[in-house]
Formats: sequence, C-alpha cells, structure tokens
Amino acid sequence: MNELIGRVFHFEKSIFPAHGELFGKLTTHGQTPKALMISCADSRVVPEQIMQAEPGDLFVCRNAGNMVPPYATLNGGVTSTVEYAVVALGVRDVIVCGHSDCGAMKALSDPSGLEMMPNVAAWLRHGAAAEHIVSTCHEHLEGKDRVRAISLENIIAQIGHLRTHPTVAAAIARGEMTLHGWFVDIHAGQVLGLDGDAGEFVPLREDRDLPVALAPRPRVATEYAEAAQ
Ligand code: ZN
Repeated sequence: MNELIGRVFHFEKSIFPAHGELFGKLTTHGQTPKALMISCADSRVVPEQIMQAEPGDLFVCRNAGNMVPPYATLNGGVTSTVEYAVVALGVRDVIVCGHSDCGAMKALSDPSGLEMMPNVAAWLRHGAAAEHIVSTCHEHLEGKDRVRAISLENIIAQIGHLRTHPTVAAAIARGEMTLHGWFVDIHAGQVLGLDGDAGEFVPLREDRDLPVALAPRPRVATEYAEAAQ
C-alpha cells in the first residue's frame, strides 16, 4: 500500500482518539472557524501548519494559484466557499495566500507548456492582471524575480476579485471584514503580509502590528450622501 494512504489507520487509531474531546465539541456545537484561507494547492504550503490551526479553527479553500474568480464570472467552488464562510459561518477574516516557487505563477510568467492543459490555462486567466502589471510596469524583471513579482501582484489582484463578491462587499461596508494578503516564502520559512495602506509586503513579526490588506472600517459614504441632501 502507498505509505501515505496507509497513515489513515494512524489517524483512526491514535490521532482521533487523542483529540476526542475537541472533535466531540465540534460535532455537538458545529464549527465556528476564525478565518477563511484561500491558498494555493501546492503540497508544500499547508495552511493549517502555517497557522498552527487545530480542527475547527480554519476554513480552507485551495486551488492552483490561490485564485478568486470575480463574482460575476463563474459559479464555482471558490465563490460558493466564500459565500458560505461569510454568511453561514460568520467569518470576518479572509486570507489570500500565495507562495514562492509557485507552478501556477511560473505558468503565468511563461505559458509555454500549457497546450496540454487547457483547463489550467483557462483558470490562470484569473491572474492575467498580475502578469500584465509586471510585464508593463516592471519589464526589466526576469526569471525568478519576475515570477515573485507576479506572485505578489496576483495576491493583490485576487483580493480585488474577492471584493466583487456581494457578501464580502457588504461585510466590508459594515466595517466587519478584514482582508489579508500573505506570501509564504517556502525557501526562507517566512510569511510576508500585504500592508494595504503602504502598498507593500512586509514580514509578519510578533512585536509589530499585523499588516492587513484591508482593515475593518465602517463606511461613511452613505451617511454623507444622506447628510448632503
Ligand atoms: Zn502555487
């Protein structure tokens, strides 16, 4: 038997019994995850490990390139997962998580070889803005530097797409939603976070405020419109 598949018996025999109390609570009271993470499917990036999350802590959606299709384009898994997390589970923190050495970002940078993968090619179009930004604003970048720049821009692009989802947009307008853009450097074992106000990615540090892509802020535009009448 595949050694990995065989480990399921260890889960049944040891892991589940050791966490019996936690699973009992989660099955009796249901789940109340603290955040939704939309991460790349890459096997080297494990959201629960990065967050040191226990069962019940983290709602996770993974796909090639940590994409979030804009709301109107596709009724698919990501859209449904976002909607369920925000409406049914009341999640108020969403993390879009990319990483270094990402195959999807390499393919965005150089699409040769995608001829045999038409679905991957179509999916990667959700990252077209990231590639275009780097090609037109940072045309001097090449190789790994270009892929890294596309990876960072892609996180920003997907956060933009996320904001087109009505449930997310409404939670933002209520000042209840915090959006995070993270980049896991799997070479350095370091996580960078997007500081939305400064427009840069900075290392997450215990002794500093957590950089956020979008901080929760009640919207005053509508109140202003009323007052102006
Ligand atoms: Zn990846």
